[in-house]
Amino acid sequence: MLKSELIERAARFRSAEGDPSRSLSDCPALVLNADYTPLSYYPLSLWPWQTAIKAVVLERVDIISSYERAVHSPNWTMQIPSVIALRQYVKPSEFPAFTRFNLFLRDRFSCQYCGSPHNLTFDHVVPRRLGGRTSWENILTACAPCNLRKGGRTPKQANMPPLVQPIRPTSWQLQERGRGFPPNYLHETWRDWLYWDIELEE
Ligand SMILES: [Zn+2]
Repeated sequence: MLKSELIERAARFRSAEGDPSRSLSDCPALVLNADYTPLSYYPLSLWPWQTAIKAVVLERVDIISSYERAVHSPNWTMQIPSVIALRQYVKPSEFPAFTRFNLFLRDRFSCQYCGSPHNLTFDHVVPRRLGGRTSWENILTACAPCNLRKGGRTPKQANMPPLVQPIRPTSWQLQERGRGFPPNYLHETWRDWLYWDIELEE
């Protein structure tokens, strides 16, 4: 993704309007781990307001920040939480699952042969018919044209060296990758817990 596009996206949330008229479905809570880092950056860890309030009632989370919008029951009124933190630390597994999404994220949603972000699919670096496995180390994100051009050949045979050699990422590496992709909408109370601004200044 282009840097200018990221800046554009980040700018949009800065001008976000006030809360009270916000509809309930637009009030998700940003979920932080017990160490106050987001459970996940991309997709951003968000819970719908009902789930967030249930977790508050069950004392599984602390409210860090709230929307102005409140919900009422006969016995209580609660401002809808906008940022919550788990009381118990959830240890992320060391290695992420081998999924389409995670693979795209590892490769920053770009073709690993030409860099294009369009028409993405997957490529076996060493083709299956030559014994190539379907694994982190042998699958790359590739655009359809590159995939077609490479065909059933190795990168060497096709004279198409990958921009980056595929590796099995750790969960931490993948989270770092995810920080490069701010979502379309960020509530102002989330800013302190996310670091996209810092990313942008790099
Ligand atoms: Zn390509």
